[in-house]
Amino acid sequence: MNMNIACIAGDGIGPEITREALKVLGQTAAVCGHTIQREDLLMGGASIDAYGVPLTQETVERCQAADAVLMGSIGGDAKTSPWYRLSPDKRPEAGLLGLRKALRLFANLRPAFLYPELAEACPLREETAKKGFDLMLVRELTGGLYFGDRKTQEVDGVRIATDTLVYSEEEIRRVARRAFDIAMTRRKKVTSVDKANVLDSSRLWRTVTEEVAKDYPDITLEHMLVDNCAMQIVLDPAQFDVILTENMFGDILSDEASMITGSIGMLPSASLNESKFGLYEPSGGSAPDIAGKDVANPLATILSAALMLRTTFGLEKEADAVERAVRETLAEGYRTRDIASATTDKEKILGCAAMGDKVAEHVKGE
Ligand code: NAD
Repeated sequence: MNMNIACIAGDGIGPEITREALKVLGQTAAVCGHTIQREDLLMGGASIDAYGVPLTQETVERCQAADAVLMGSIGGDAKTSPWYRLSPDKRPEAGLLGLRKALRLFANLRPAFLYPELAEACPLREETAKKGFDLMLVRELTGGLYFGDRKTQEVDGVRIATDTLVYSEEEIRRVARRAFDIAMTRRKKVTSVDKANVLDSSRLWRTVTEEVAKDYPDITLEHMLVDNCAMQIVLDPAQFDVILTENMFGDILSDEASMITGSIGMLPSASLNESKFGLYEPSGGSAPDIAGKDVANPLATILSAALMLRTTFGLEKEADAVERAVRETLAEGYRTRDIASATTDKEKILGCAAMGDKVAEHVKGE
C-alpha cells in the first residue's frame, strides 16, 4: 500500500517527536512492504514565522489531499513567545482549530492504556494499577456547549452569562456509529456517558445511542451518568472498553483518563471525520520547556502513528507491530526521562532520538 501522509511537525518538541514517529513508520513500511509518500507542511507558530498566519489555505488543501495527517504539536511559551502578543485569532492554536474545522473532524479518540512496565507511575491504588486497563475514549468534537450561542448581558445591574448546549440527532448518530465501529474491533462494549437525569440534550443522546445500538447486536451498550463515570475511572478503569461522550464531558474525562496512565508523553490521539481520514497527534503540547534538548518522549507520537496505520489504512498487523515494539522497548527497561523512576538503570535512560531508534529496531514484520 502507498500511504500519502501530510506531516505537520509544528513547534517546540514537535519536530523532534515527529521525526521519531516517521522513523518508526518508515521502518514499519519497509519491513511490511508498504511505501510512504510524505509532504511536510507548516502550521501554528512555524507558519506565523514563515507566512504571518497560523494556517494557510495551501496547508488546508494539502491536508485534504492526503490520506492522513501526522502532527507533532503547536504553540509556544505564552509568557515569552511573540506569537502570544497577537490577537487570539492569529495565535498558533487558532491554526489547529481552523484545521480541525476545515477537515470536519468530529470524533476525537484517546486511548488510555496502562503499560505494566509503567505501573509505578500510575497514581491509582496499587491493586487497581496491577489489574491494568485499556480503554478508548471517543469524544464528540463539534457540538455541545463549546459551539452553542453564548452571551453576557447586564439585567438590572446584574451580569448574566449564558452558554447554550445544542446537539442534533445527526451529530450524535455519526459519533455513536464511530464508537460502535471501534468497539467491534475491541472488547465489544460501549459505555455512553451523559447527564440524562437533568439535560434534554443527554436524553436525546441516550435515545439516539440506543437506536444506533440496534445495528450492532454484538455490542453491549451501557449508559452511565458523567459524575459516576468520573468516579469509576479512578475506582475501576478496567471495567471500560469504549467510552462515548459529548464534547465537554469528553474534554474533562479524557484528561482524567490520561492522568491515570502516568505520563502525558505516552498518550496518542486521533481526530476523525466521516471518511477514513484522520489527524493523528500526541495528547501533550509542544513542551517549550524541553524543546531542542533531545529529552522529549516520542512514544505518544509513535503510538499515534500506530493508530493511523490501524484507523486510516486498516493495517491492523502493522499497527500491532509498532505497539509491540514500544512494549518490548519498555520491557527491556528503556525509558525517556519523563517515565524513568528511581529504579531505572541510568544507562537505559534515552534521549528522544535514541528512543526512536530503539523502537524502530524492534519493529518486525510477520
Ligand atoms: P505541554 O503538554 O506542552 O507540557 C506540560 C508538561 O508536560 C511540561 O512539563 C512538558 O515538558 C511535559 N511534556 C509534554 N509532552 C512531553 C513529552 N512528549 N515528553 C516529555 N515531557 C512532555 O503543555 P503546556 O505547557 O500547557 O503547553 C505548551 C504549549 O503547547 C502551549 O503553547 C499550548 O497551547 C500548546 N499545546 C498544544 C497542543 C496541540 O498541539 N494539540 C495541545 C496542548 C497544548
